[in-house]
Order: sequence, then C-alpha cells, then structure tokens
Amino acid sequence: MTKSKKDTSVFIYDVIIIGAGPSGLTAAIYASRARLKTLLLEGLSVSSQALVTDKIENYPGFPEGINGFEMIGKFKKQAKLFGTEFVAEDVNTIHPSKWQDTNIWQVDVKDKTYHSISVIIASGAQFRALGVEGEKRLLGRGVSYCAVCDGAFFKDKNVVVVGGGDTAAEEALFLTRFAKKITLIHRRDRLRATRILQERIFSNKKTDIVWNSVVNEILGETKVQGVRVTDLKAKKETDISCDGVFIFVGLVPNTSFVKDIIKLDKDGYVIADSKMKTSRDGIFACGDCRQTILRQVVTACGDGAFAAFSAQQYVDELKGTAYK
Ligand code: NAP
Repeated sequence: MTKSKKDTSVFIYDVIIIGAGPSGLTAAIYASRARLKTLLLEGLSVSSQALVTDKIENYPGFPEGINGFEMIGKFKKQAKLFGTEFVAEDVNTIHPSKWQDTNIWQVDVKDKTYHSISVIIASGAQFRALGVEGEKRLLGRGVSYCAVCDGAFFKDKNVVVVGGGDTAAEEALFLTRFAKKITLIHRRDRLRATRILQERIFSNKKTDIVWNSVVNEILGETKVQGVRVTDLKAKKETDISCDGVFIFVGLVPNTSFVKDIIKLDKDGYVIADSKMKTSRDGIFACGDCRQTILRQVVTACGDGAFAAFSAQQYVDELKGTAYK
C-alpha cells in the first residue's frame, strides 16, 4: 500500500485585499490590471457603507446620482473582468508567515489560511453606537443604523435622526420618502453636513431640527416609543415621542484584527502615508479605515488605486521584476 503524500505546497498570492467597498474594489481593478495574482476577501459580518447608500451624487460621471448597491455591483464586475478572485470570509488575523521566509504574509480566516506577498487593508468603518439606555434593547424594534434598509417600515410614522454629519443629513432626507415627520437632533447649533444637504434639510417640510440637544435614552418596552432629550443650553430634559430612531453619530474603523500588526491612531484608524504604506513592509491601507480628513467614495477610490500601485512596486522589487 502506498502512503498518500501530504500536499505541503503553499499557494501564494501577490496581493490579498481585505474589504469590498469602493477602495478595496478599486485596488482590485488596478492590481489585476497590473497582472498581480489578486484575491479579495469580502467580509461576511460587515458591509460597505456605500452598499447601503440610496443615492451617491458626488461621484463624477453620474449627474443623476447612482444607487450605492448598483455602483458596488459595477465595481465588482469590473474587478472580476480583470481577474480578481473573490472569497467571502471574515479575516481573523494577519501575521508574518512561518513558511520559509518572512516576506510572506499569512492571512487567517475561519478554517483556512491564505499567503500573500502583500496585503491591502480596505476594511472600512461601521456606524458608531450612541451608547445610551434602550439602544441595544430596541435594536430592530425601532432603533436602526440604516435608513435604506429600514426606512420603508416607517411609512407615515414619526422618526428621530441623531447626528449632524453628512450621513445623518442624507439619511434624514431619504426617510422623508416614507415618514410623516423627521426630527433631527443635533448637539450643536449648526450642522456639520455639507451645505447642499443642509439646504435640502432646511427646505424640506417634513424635517424639523432640535438644536443643542443630546439623546440620553431611547424609550419603550418592546418597541421604540420616544427619546429622552437634554437641551444643553436650557439644561432641560424633554421626551419626544416617535416610532423610530436612526443613529448616525460617526464611524468606528474595522481594524481590530490588525491592531497588533500595524500602527493605528488613537481612534483605531490605520496610519498610512500618501502611498498608502503602513508601518509594516508589504501592508498597505486605503479608504475609510485609514486616518484621513475626507471620507468619500471618490477619495476611497483614489486611495485604492495608490495602494494597488504601491503593492505592485513592492511585489516587483521582491521578485526582481521592477521596471527601472
Ligand atoms: P461624522 O462626519 O463624524 O459626523 C458625526 C455626527 O454625529 C457629527 O455631527 C457629530 O457631532 C455627531 N456626534 C458624534 N458623537 C455624538 C454623540 N455621542 N452624541 C450626539 N452626536 C454625536 O460622521 P458621518 O456623518 O457618518 O460621516 C462619516 C464620513 O463619511 C464623513 O467623512 C462624511 O463626510 C462621509 N460621508 C459623506 C457623504 C457624502 O459625501 N454624501 C455621505 C455620508 C458620509 P459634531 O458635529 O458636534 O462632532
């Protein structure tokens, strides 16, 4: 009887991209066109914010705007066309491979390990929780972080939107399609959102703003019935009745899986230079998970292109195939 020989060969990618938002998919398009052997690991538990954006109207070339789901679908199709492989897996860790030499990175998912010469972190960010009483308990029972997903459940109802940034403004405007009234509660006396969104909020008859106020508690036993709000100037507490609470108070980067490998800032964003290089050779970062002052689809795409270009240079240097 012949013993079956265990296959110890290790299949190595040139680049593994983690995340299938605009930055990761752009990196995939560029890396595949550069003929790098490219694998994109698409998270199972988090999805790109662009995916749940009803209408993206500041991405050049779409004067009427484009639905986020449709846009991501097009990006994906383009990356596949040029040869990117896709696998739906959450990444647990990245570390230097113990296999042969340390120029290879090991990417561990649930039951499997992938090897790659370079890695691009494009894992994005998710919406931050407000952290008040009732928020967790009433999640899915009136509390939501996605108007596109849940807005239709609030037809002719009263809803509250918390936050003053672009997301709060955009989502509040989306909710005007369904809800009877939208009360935006913001902790300052002016909005952070871009001015065109402010104009639309101010001119929409369904939207109302409660300024200088914070939500302390979401009220209701089995479903949302209201919010308890403190007016920071008047130092007065009031209850506002509503059927839904949509929370958009900023982002938390999806970077915990790399916190021991590369440098992050105090908020958890990856520190990367203008070429998207992180603190470790061969690891690049792009898009919303990266420390930056502007988080837009168009800037994420630019980041992705840079990350793929830098990864290509890195891989070519190691393989001795760089064009000099
Ligand atoms: P953001 O810009 O960080 O805004 C978060 C908002 O929530 C701010 O107004 C902030 O108040 C408020 N906030 C934070 N913590 C709070 C708390 N504990 N209680 C009450 N309010 C709180 O986040 P975002 O709106 O989700 O946007 C994230 C990024 O994506 C931004 O770069 C944004 O420009 C971008 N984005 C762009 C578009 C677009 O271009 N159309 C759409 C969506 C998002 P303060 O203002 O007082 O800090």
